[in-house]
Amino acid sequence: MTDYYQRLGVDKNADQTSIKKAYRKLAVKYHPDKNQDDPEAEGKFKEISEAYEVLSDENKRQIYDQYGADAVQNGGMGAGPGGGMGGFSSMEDALKTFMGAFGGNSDNIFDSFFGGGGGGSDSGRPRQGSSKKVRLTISFEEAAKGCNKSLMVTNYISCGGCKGSGAKSQSDIQTCPTCQGSGQVHQSRGFFTMASTCHQCHGAGQVITNPCGECHGYGRKKEKQKVTVPIPAGVDSDMRLKMQGYGDSGENGGPQGDLYVFIQVEPHDIFSREGDNIILTLPISLTEAALGCKKDIPTLLSKSPIRLSVPIGVQYGKVLRMRHEGMPNVHGHGRGDLLISIAIETPVNLTQKQKKLLKDFQNTETEQNSPKKKSFLDKIKAFF
Ligand SMILES: [Zn+2]
Ligand SMILES: [Zn+2]
Repeated sequence: MTDYYQRLGVDKNADQTSIKKAYRKLAVKYHPDKNQDDPEAEGKFKEISEAYEVLSDENKRQIYDQYGADAVQNGGMGAGPGGGMGGFSSMEDALKTFMGAFGGNSDNIFDSFFGGGGGGSDSGRPRQGSSKKVRLTISFEEAAKGCNKSLMVTNYISCGGCKGSGAKSQSDIQTCPTCQGSGQVHQSRGFFTMASTCHQCHGAGQVITNPCGECHGYGRKKEKQKVTVPIPAGVDSDMRLKMQGYGDSGENGGPQGDLYVFIQVEPHDIFSREGDNIILTLPISLTEAALGCKKDIPTLLSKSPIRLSVPIGVQYGKVLRMRHEGMPNVHGHGRGDLLISIAIETPVNLTQKQKKLLKDFQNTETEQNSPKKKSFLDKIKAFF
C-alpha cells in the first residue's frame, strides 16, 4: 500500500507549506546530482517526487485520500499517453517536479549551496568543480607566529589517461544515436510535443563507445592530494582561508573548485585573546601589591621575557598594558597589545608568627590605608 504522506514524512493533515518543505528537504538529499551511481537514492528521489506531485495538488490529493494511489496513477486524470502522473517512469519527470518545487532550474539550487554542484553529468556544458571545506586546528603559538600546515584532501582530478574526455581514444567519441547529436529528444504527451534532454548522452550530443580504462569514462578520478596551507600570523578561530583552485577539477573545461580552510585555534594555558590583544592574568601576593614589585612577563613573540614594573599599591583587576606585544593583525596592520590583569592573592596557610605580624600590622592600620573601604562606609552611613 503506497503511502505518500509517509514517504514525505508528513501528517495526513499537513498543509501545503509543510508538504513543500518536507519534499524540498528530501529532494535535496536524494537528488541524483548529489548521489551519483547510487540507484537506491535514485529510486528514493523518484518516490518522493511522485508523492509530492500528488500531495501538492489539492485535487489529486483529494482523490488519493479517497481512493488510494492507484486512482491517481491510472485513473482518468487527464494524463496523456504514458501516464505521466505518479509512478514516474523516468528521472526526467521526477526532476521536473523537483524544479517546480524550487521554482526554477535545478542547477541553481546547488550553486547556492556549497560549491558548484555535485559533479553532474546532465549536459556537456562546462561546470566548475566542487569546492571543499576542511577544518584545521592549530595551537595558540602557531596562530601568533603563522605557520605552514599540510593536509590531505581527496579531490577529483582530470584523468591523465584521456585528458578528461573519458574515451579511450578520440575515435571512441561518437555522435549520440538517440538524438543524432542535438542533445534533445522530442516526446509526445497527449496533445503536446515536448523537447527534453536526451537520456543517452545527457545533452552532450556525443557518447563514448569505448571508455578510458583509467577513469571508466568519467573523465575525472579521485586522488588524495597533499595541500600545504600557509597560515598567516594573527589568524583566529572561525576565520576562513580560501585556497583558490584546490577543490575538484572542473568538468568539460570548467574551472577548478576551491578549498575552504576553517581555522580553529586551541586555547592556551596562560594567554587568552580579545581581538588582536593578548590577555594575561598575573597573580601577585598581597605584600607585592602593597610594596610594588618587578615581574618577568613571558610573551609569545619576544625571545626573552619582558620586565614589568608593578606599581606600589596596585589594586585587584588593574590592567597594565605592554604596547605592541599582542597578536599580529592578520591583515598586516601592526600588532595588538599585551594586557596584564593583576590578581592579588590573599595569603593563606599562615604560621603563628605571620599571624602575629599581620595582627600587629592591623593594629597600626588607619583609614588612610584603605580609602575605598572608608568611602564605602561613608556612603552606607548616609542611608541610616
Ligand atoms: Zn580517463
Ligand atoms: Zn543524445
